[in-house]
Amino acid sequence: MPALDSFIAGLPKAELHVHHVGSASPRIVAELAARHPDGPVPTDPEALADFFTFRDFAHFVEVYLSVVDLIRDAEDVRLLTYEVARDMARQNIRYAELTVTPYSSTRRGIPDAAFVEAIEDARKAAESELGVVLRWCFDIPGEAGLAAAEETARIACDLKPEGLVSFGLGGPEIGVPRGQFKPFFDRAIAAGLHSVPHAGETTGPQTIWDALTELRAERIGHGTSATQDPRLLAHLAEHRIPLEVCPTSNLATRAVTDLDRHPIKEMVSAGVLVTVNSDDPPMFGTDLNTEYAVAARLLDLDPQGIAALAKNAVDVSFMDETAKARLRTEIDTYTATWRG
Ligand SMILES: [Zn+2]
Repeated sequence: MPALDSFIAGLPKAELHVHHVGSASPRIVAELAARHPDGPVPTDPEALADFFTFRDFAHFVEVYLSVVDLIRDAEDVRLLTYEVARDMARQNIRYAELTVTPYSSTRRGIPDAAFVEAIEDARKAAESELGVVLRWCFDIPGEAGLAAAEETARIACDLKPEGLVSFGLGGPEIGVPRGQFKPFFDRAIAAGLHSVPHAGETTGPQTIWDALTELRAERIGHGTSATQDPRLLAHLAEHRIPLEVCPTSNLATRAVTDLDRHPIKEMVSAGVLVTVNSDDPPMFGTDLNTEYAVAARLLDLDPQGIAALAKNAVDVSFMDETAKARLRTEIDTYTATWRG
């Protein structure tokens, strides 16, 4: 393994933009498929690896939906969540804010309380058994409209599980204006949750402005198009509003045409705080370590630079100050003692 890759592999990390169902690796999908062998998902590991080989965005949607179809009861939810944490532990991810879409499960008939209990059980087990601290971002699937927003806000505010820290908005941006979700974000923010919508991944900088002004975004999911608007970049830098950058995902969804043209360098040069994330890692054929390697190449970073990037994620996470200080120290100690 090249020296920088081995540095990244051992580096303690935090991840802020990664989806629950989108993190189901072939190993996890095989376990779920074994529980529900009547579906279209192959259970044989080799066929499953082929099924997971990313072809294009339509194929991604197909894989994603067939995994959603395998999550039918609370035990599936618990298994998925715990096993995602196991994959994180293997990458030395110590803390993750996992974007969870309760609406996908409740509309399939899993009761909201059972859903919340399942993720909370998995969270507690992951922390004590695997050393991975999970927190939740409950997100609105934008394509499902206002009824989904209402249901998501209701579950977030009424059930408010201990691990819940933030409220998000995902799905397509084109034809789904951010502003219509303002009342739901207002409610979530009033209930003490942080606002972290996706914006500017497949649409221009105006969507990012809308996320800031209408949804009071504290961090922006992706924000890829921010570099098209120098005034926006300056605003993000001045107000220290971080971008959750997911390079390989952006390439896979054609938000960027070429990784070498990813705007991460322009963001950093403009003084914007960036974090590196994997989004839907197995479905895009990546993981967080690979994303750090990509970022290190695009930003020309040495181990100290990579460690600084990892600390960005800690700094702008929603963990408490004691936990932040502990993880920062862990990163510093690792970096100081690492021998490549
Ligand atoms: Zn995302």
